[in-house]
Amino acid sequence: MGYEREDLRCFNGYVPGEQPLSARAKLNTNENPYQPGAKVLRALRGVTAEALRCYPDPLANVFRQAAADRQGLTADNIVVTNGGDEGLRLALAAFLPPGAPLGLIEPAYGLYPGLAVLHGSPVCAVPYEADWSLPANAAEHWNGAGARLAIVTNPHAPSGRLASVAQLMQIARAFHGVLLVDEAYVDFVEPELCHDTIALVRVLPNVLLLRTLSKGYSLAGLRLGYGIGAPDLIRPMLQKAKDSYNVDAIAQRIGAAAIADHRYAARTWRLVRQERKRVAAALATRGFTCPSSEANFLLACMPAGAPISAEMLYRALADEGIYVRWFDSDRLRQHLRITVGTPDQNSLLLAAIDRILALPRVNDKGAPSASGEESCSD
Ligand SMILES: *Cc1c(COP(=O)(O)O)cnc(C)c1O
Repeated sequence: MGYEREDLRCFNGYVPGEQPLSARAKLNTNENPYQPGAKVLRALRGVTAEALRCYPDPLANVFRQAAADRQGLTADNIVVTNGGDEGLRLALAAFLPPGAPLGLIEPAYGLYPGLAVLHGSPVCAVPYEADWSLPANAAEHWNGAGARLAIVTNPHAPSGRLASVAQLMQIARAFHGVLLVDEAYVDFVEPELCHDTIALVRVLPNVLLLRTLSKGYSLAGLRLGYGIGAPDLIRPMLQKAKDSYNVDAIAQRIGAAAIADHRYAARTWRLVRQERKRVAAALATRGFTCPSSEANFLLACMPAGAPISAEMLYRALADEGIYVRWFDSDRLRQHLRITVGTPDQNSLLLAAIDRILALPRVNDKGAPSASGEESCSD
């Protein structure tokens, strides 16, 4: 019945987090809690009628050059995309023959398997280790299945765990296809870790990095991302896979202003890291366990002996206008993924958790930086 592709009928599509019209604390889709800076807003006000009348630059060269300069690369290392999500789609179109498996490590961003279905490809998934570190044998599994493209999220979502550049390099060297490293959250990595993945692009022909301005630059509403790779990887995405005018004139202009003022964004990253530490410690004192996160969210495993399930806590919080994310899958059912918000939003969340779980009140200011390293043992 109907005209829809047969192979799509039992596929439900990726369901993004709720976007409620109002919330007391919206901590469910990993937006940066701080608004974009004054220079970005000035660029927005500067959009002219003439810029709207004309088609935009098909290659988004002003933004492309700005992104290249920022990384010490050249424009032919960069493809600009309509959000990071479009970059994922372009990578499948350019590197994965339909029918060949897409390599994943699961659990992962729910959009990946959805894109594989649309592309007509199966998924070859290897599970994360119990402590959310990368499985050692991922590339061998993917090679054995004939995968030509594999995606690793780093820092990982939803755990926040960071794999090292050396680990990524090992996987990329062993893998016979293109390794896409989805770096949607890389801006929030602690600078002291000196996590520099551009080094991978310089030495490996099969590593494609995906970045987005949605999280780090507070521009989720704009829809702007970019891919970074060797020119031979960028060219097919740019010249064959993407729509002619995939990034609109407003996004190009605002994106260039945002990158030029990256120091403003970097201040928001520092604030988020401070709060990430405080919230992780506060959750630990309440019996939750979180893997150590280098992203702008925490994956909190419910305390042993909690009076209600993670799902019930998620619903009770939503009833109070506090939105977090709950995933109905075996490995994640007892967890909540909590975006790090402003100090006020985070305090609101913690107080609500205390009320709902009927925990005695805890003073979080002086909370010891408890061992946030443990992961769930489920
Ligand atoms: C947010 C996100 C993206 C990209 O989001 P866009 O808003 O499309 O840029 C990609 N991968 C992961 C894992 C994300 O969380």
